[in-house]
Amino acid sequence: MTRHAVHARKTHMTSPKTVLITGTSSGIGLATAIGTARAGWTTIATMRDTGKADALLKAAAEADVADRIRVKRLDVTDPASVTACLDEVIAQHGRLDALVNNAGSAKTGTIELLGVEEVRAAMEVNFFGVVEVTRAALPHLRSAQGRVITVSSVGGVLGQPFNEAYCAAKFAVEGFMESLAPVAATLGVDVTVVEPGPVASEFVANQNLDIPALLDAAGPYAPALKAYLGLRRNVFEGAQTPAEAAAPIIDALTADRPPFRIQTSQRARDFVATTLADLDGSAVQTLTGAWVR
Ligand code: NAP
Repeated sequence: MTRHAVHARKTHMTSPKTVLITGTSSGIGLATAIGTARAGWTTIATMRDTGKADALLKAAAEADVADRIRVKRLDVTDPASVTACLDEVIAQHGRLDALVNNAGSAKTGTIELLGVEEVRAAMEVNFFGVVEVTRAALPHLRSAQGRVITVSSVGGVLGQPFNEAYCAAKFAVEGFMESLAPVAATLGVDVTVVEPGPVASEFVANQNLDIPALLDAAGPYAPALKAYLGLRRNVFEGAQTPAEAAAPIIDALTADRPPFRIQTSQRARDFVATTLADLDGSAVQTLTGAWVR
């Protein structure tokens, strides 16, 4: 048995498993934190603004799991906050068995209207944030023979109109994790990506979009944007709940060997199947082209 495996076995016997989740102030992250706490894990529920912990703490009290949840500050775009948080976790709990990269934010628009800086900002949160936290967590995950689960999106497989920046970041996440998975597996760390379809969280509201102003500024893109925004409203009407999207994440944390890629609903599976079987890209263009006409 390797030194790491011996250490992992020793810590395993002395304390409950510990998971760190990013972006737990709302939505899928909050529901995942409640789920992992319910499953008996010490849950490090991180958020960039701990002043927004009320919803999580209320849900934790209702589920009778408040004693298993530790709220800590972590902004995925602030490397110092990532290091400080992980140092504290190891000092206080002695181990980290799993990381759930969940924090993310939407970016509606197209490149001429957004500008490159906004695309960079979307990459910072949705891609480099994942890279930063994963890199910092890996030494501890290696010791624990643990796992990394990253909330991607169906938009990490199928590019969608007016989501260029967001989908690019999620595609990057998928390529990064798919490449890391076999390497991490040689050291006993499982890597999984989770692809939700629409989820009724704060995701759309958190963008604070001023739709009339957006359409006013859209120039020649206005008809296509209007068509897309109309369709998006309908799409979100049949959305999963955050708890429904979180359930497969909890399953992946506790499964013996989780698969690399998990969709959170049949709807998400049907949607990504379009592209995974679309060798020349024409099926996706036919599907998404109809959204903006
Ligand atoms: P949400 O309710 O908006 O939650 C997103 C969380 O990420 C919030 O807690 C937010 O914190 C946090 N966050 C944003 N920027 C951050 C940063 N720089 N550092 C740390 N945390 C940050 O939306 P959600 O649907 O639960 O999203 C969770 C994940 O699911 C995201 O990765 C998203 O891309 C993915 N996803 C969502 C959907 C959907 O339809 N909702 C579909 C597919 C994939 P604040 O409260 O401080 O903003």
